[in-house]
Amino acid sequence: MKKMKAAMFYAPGDVRVEEVEVPRVDDKEILVRVKIALTCGTDVKSYRRGYSLFKPPCLFGHEWAGDVVEVGENVSGFKEGMRVVGHNTAPCGRCYYCKKGYHSMCEYLMDNLLLGAYAEYIKVPSAIVEQNLFEIPDGISYKAAALLEPLSCVVYGTDEIGIQLGDSVVINGAGPIGLMFVRLAKLKGARVISCDLSEQRLAVARKIGADETINVSHTKDQVASVQELTEDKRGVDVAIEATGFPKVWEMTILMARKAGKVLLFGGCKAGTTITVGTELLHYSQLTLKGVFHTTPRHVKTAYDLITRRMMPEDLLVTDEVPLSETVKALEMHLHQAGIKIAIVP
Ligand SMILES: [Zn+2]
Ligand SMILES: [Zn+2]
Repeated sequence: MKKMKAAMFYAPGDVRVEEVEVPRVDDKEILVRVKIALTCGTDVKSYRRGYSLFKPPCLFGHEWAGDVVEVGENVSGFKEGMRVVGHNTAPCGRCYYCKKGYHSMCEYLMDNLLLGAYAEYIKVPSAIVEQNLFEIPDGISYKAAALLEPLSCVVYGTDEIGIQLGDSVVINGAGPIGLMFVRLAKLKGARVISCDLSEQRLAVARKIGADETINVSHTKDQVASVQELTEDKRGVDVAIEATGFPKVWEMTILMARKAGKVLLFGGCKAGTTITVGTELLHYSQLTLKGVFHTTPRHVKTAYDLITRRMMPEDLLVTDEVPLSETVKALEMHLHQAGIKIAIVP
């Protein structure tokens, strides 16, 4: 039995890098040697609190890029030695929601969930091979390619909220997701305001496309600070939340102008709720939009943006550690030392 090194999740706060069996692929699957994996807020949350879909001890990590080392005999389009990047899910294409075109709501989305990027090898299930696996073109780094999954979620959110040319857009949170929103809003021709507590992150936000930044630790009224940056202080055309805190969801709603649009993106703790004034929602004719995950169409768009070098990976992936130091990488991400951390087997 072939062995590999992998980070195994045992319990919240208990992750061990150890020798495990290399996954075996069937006729429709692909085995990839991981060249780079990235930390993600979701992995950090799972590391601290566990995750309902984990069966410990288990592999984890879901953002990766690498080289194909084994191809099932019934796979077409991929061959050994190819540099590839994959998304971490694929919809079934057959359930009610898939048929209606809501692929992120697929009832079987999580059946194909790919975990195990923090390892020397990763097995790509057939549904992902068929729908969400791509060759990395020459000249595009593994690091840039590995942004595929988070970027595809941000592309989906951006698409769903519909930013128009010339819109004013606020993005609350300048973590990896918030920064990608800043970039995409800028690419859409918006005037972008980025809010965060960290001066360091706001500096990255300015580099990646923010026209204005607000350090919310220096302001008493975050909503007023945003409104003041808009014409006649009426608020922004589009307000985006990318922190996952109910309080920020509520504030984000207040930042939109009349008839404005609000994208509530960051997943909050289970069981939490928010309060929205009924008068505000009614008389201001607000559109509030929640989104979850992404769809193959948006994964493809994210791939296109990456391969056209529209996403400056060096601003988003700031540090690199070996696989043996996976815990350090997760801790760095947790304590905001850097933006995303690359884990290199
Ligand atoms: Zn992710
Ligand atoms: Zn489905």
